[in-house]
Amino acid sequence: MSDKLIYLDNAATTRVSEGVAKKMTEAMTAGFYNPSALYARAVDVSTDIRRMRNGICSALHAPDGELYFTSGGTEANNTALFCTKKAKGSRIIVGMGEHDSVFAPANELKAQGYDVQFAPIKSDGTVDVVEFEKLLNDKVSLVSIMHASNETGGLNDIAALVRLVRKSAPNAIFHSDGVQAVCKIPVNLRALGVDLYSMSAHKFHGPKGVGALFVKKGTSIKPLLYGGGQEKGMRSGTESYASIVGFSEAMNSALAENFENNYSKISQHREYLLQKLTTEIDDVAVITNVNNSVPNVLTVAFKDVRGEVLLHSLEKHGILVGIGSACSSHHESRFKSLLGLDARHKDGIIRFSISEENDISEVDFVVDKIKQELALLTKFRRV
Ligand code: PLP
Repeated sequence: MSDKLIYLDNAATTRVSEGVAKKMTEAMTAGFYNPSALYARAVDVSTDIRRMRNGICSALHAPDGELYFTSGGTEANNTALFCTKKAKGSRIIVGMGEHDSVFAPANELKAQGYDVQFAPIKSDGTVDVVEFEKLLNDKVSLVSIMHASNETGGLNDIAALVRLVRKSAPNAIFHSDGVQAVCKIPVNLRALGVDLYSMSAHKFHGPKGVGALFVKKGTSIKPLLYGGGQEKGMRSGTESYASIVGFSEAMNSALAENFENNYSKISQHREYLLQKLTTEIDDVAVITNVNNSVPNVLTVAFKDVRGEVLLHSLEKHGILVGIGSACSSHHESRFKSLLGLDARHKDGIIRFSISEENDISEVDFVVDKIKQELALLTKFRRV
């Protein structure tokens, strides 16, 4: 096993940055008070949480509404799916390529008798708008379409989808899972027009176990968790001050301090990787549409090889990549059957996801090792 580490699985999770970890340690030690307590030190913590909540809303250009901290993207998505007001048996539309934390609740709602419809996706992982529009009517109570795909990085035009929904499904609440979009592209919630938007800190160098659900004013939604009434009653449980500090610091660093530089560095890195893969390796199927995706993801399919086998071969050289959603890697991805890949490519999917911590100079090494391993792995397939 190599000592070298080239981490290219940043869509699964990112490393907590040193600055974020330092601030979190301070918050855990100096700011350990229960934010609901009445003495001044606890009130300071609670005031700081309010300050960070407001900061996140303004960074995302949120319209009037509330941002509720959750235990992550999964909880935010479950709250959106299960806790919005829906007439019994009404129609719910969910993208076919949604993350399991939307897809599984949608299946549960189907089992409960809702008319759940899965909107088809195209080969780049984004929703087919023509097919989506056909599903709209005034019986739709909820729509959930992700902003950026965790499998391909493909971007849905959420503002356009919201406009269609307002026109043809006027009773629907619109939720978008923004977990893979936040801090990767500029997000303007007012311009998107969504009612609900989910996010998760560990995708942008914050800690795991903290996320948020933005709820636009006037959206009918109830809590998922009941108890002490924290988060204005929407999410009971003692607030994890340190986690919220980590979320806020990570977002601030990504958006306020380094966004432009990181965006162009990551885009150039992906461009170079794409160019090397497609010119130096035969028959690579490029799944990500680089003209309509977050800049950090490049999903491709190699011919005559299994993605998980190549993943482990690369791991020997210290290169860590993904084969799609890490969260669903324990079961056959429903996703790959939707991409229309031919039989020789469909098992060979690899997702490279880059962060600003990667260096473009790593690409030559990575592509060399892929070539070397593919030569070994496909040698016997060809004879
Ligand atoms: N939504 C998307 C698109 C994701 O990629 C993930 C994580 O992989 C989640 C939701 C779940 O977020 P969390 O890990 O914070 O529960």
